[in-house]
Amino acid sequence: MSVIMNGKEVAQKVRDELKKEVSNLKDQGKILKFAVIMVGDNSASKIYIKNKSKACEEVGIDCEEYILDANIQMQELLDLIKKLNNRNDIHGILLQSPIPKHLDIDEAFRTIAPEKDVDGFNPVNVGKLCLGQDGFIACTPLGVMKLLEEYNIDIEGKNAVVIGRSNIVGKPMLQCLLNKNATVTICHSKTSNLLEVTKNADIIVAAVGKEKFLKADMIKDGAVIIDVGINRLENGTICGDVDFENVKEKASYITPVPGGVGPMTVAMLMSNIVKASK
Ligand code: NAD
Repeated sequence: MSVIMNGKEVAQKVRDELKKEVSNLKDQGKILKFAVIMVGDNSASKIYIKNKSKACEEVGIDCEEYILDANIQMQELLDLIKKLNNRNDIHGILLQSPIPKHLDIDEAFRTIAPEKDVDGFNPVNVGKLCLGQDGFIACTPLGVMKLLEEYNIDIEGKNAVVIGRSNIVGKPMLQCLLNKNATVTICHSKTSNLLEVTKNADIIVAAVGKEKFLKADMIKDGAVIIDVGINRLENGTICGDVDFENVKEKASYITPVPGGVGPMTVAMLMSNIVKASK
């Protein structure tokens, strides 16, 4: 039987602390403001943006939303980002992905000023993470690290396995664990010996995007299991990448979906905005 890691509770604690900090800044005359850009009409993105602006409201951060037409040209998007870069009253900028295929998301991320890049996707911040320098770290891996810290889980010297190599989760996750001295293996769709790797893992972070992908027979007894996956089922509910009911009998710690990594991602965005204001 494992400890269920309560991301909802830890995220609330983080937001409560940030709320106090934001209120102190307000007393000193500093109003925090965050800009979020969405291009096109994506229903999942709309939910994410709603959650982010709700969290901003709770913490006391002003939020400006820019919903752009799906057919805009790249130049219009870049012009908006540059305008927001130049505004002293905006502390953080986030471009919600995905954006329509005809637009170059890499160029857009490159254009967000590194000091306002609260999502940590500008190559300057990605480079800083790789070099172990202070910068902005992508919110999901940062949230996972915060959860591990809150539950006092040892990372140093442990075998950590990340399943998934996306730029927004897998790769920065690998780097975060490495920076805490874990021995990290990253697996992906072309990995041929996944079972061999996961069976030896002390910590597994699943970021695959396939429901119940990680089964109980793929892990060793007592492993720490972090489920990043958000898979929408036909009945409207969401489920993670881990076969929770069976894996929880074997793991020492496990995150649920919902209520695990998801709320931590939003809390870490708030934390990055406060950091950017400094
Ligand atoms: P992605 O599709 O970009 O990447 C998926 C990764 O899984 C790829 O690197 C791929 O190589 C790997 N993969 C696919 N099949 C595999 C297999 N059979 N064996 C091993 N690896 C395999 O997805 P992403 O953006 O990294 O997101 C992953 C999941 O996390 C999704 O469910 C997404 O919704 C969720 N997510 C959650 C949060 C959060 O806040 N909790 C944030 C971002 C993403």
